Amino acid sequence: MRKLNDGPNIQKEKETVQQMITIYCRKKHHQKELCEECKDLLQYAHKRLSYCRFGEDKTACSNCKVHCYKPVYRQKIKEVMRYSGPWMLLYHPVYSVLHLLNGK
Ligand SMILES: [Zn+2]
Repeated sequence: MRKLNDGPNIQKEKETVQQMITIYCRKKHHQKELCEECKDLLQYAHKRLSYCRFGEDKTACSNCKVHCYKPVYRQKIKEVMRYSGPWMLLYHPVYSVLHLLNGK
């Protein structure tokens, strides 16, 4: 069995996605803790990162040729990123999330 990714880049992406989902849920679903749906999405996103075949060399998911997300989750994460992206820039300017938002 292949080792799961746990390098610094993957860790940082996990943190970023967690923050984005947290912002989204708090503002959109008005929850203090992540609701079931968002928890599920977060677990899924973390799992995808752990299994990402590019590991530490990965690019932004939106630029990736391999669409490893199931369509239903991809739709959700897209919405989360669109929603939380601007907040992330406000709260966490150190994270370069622009490339996550838009693959162009
Ligand atoms: Zn939620």
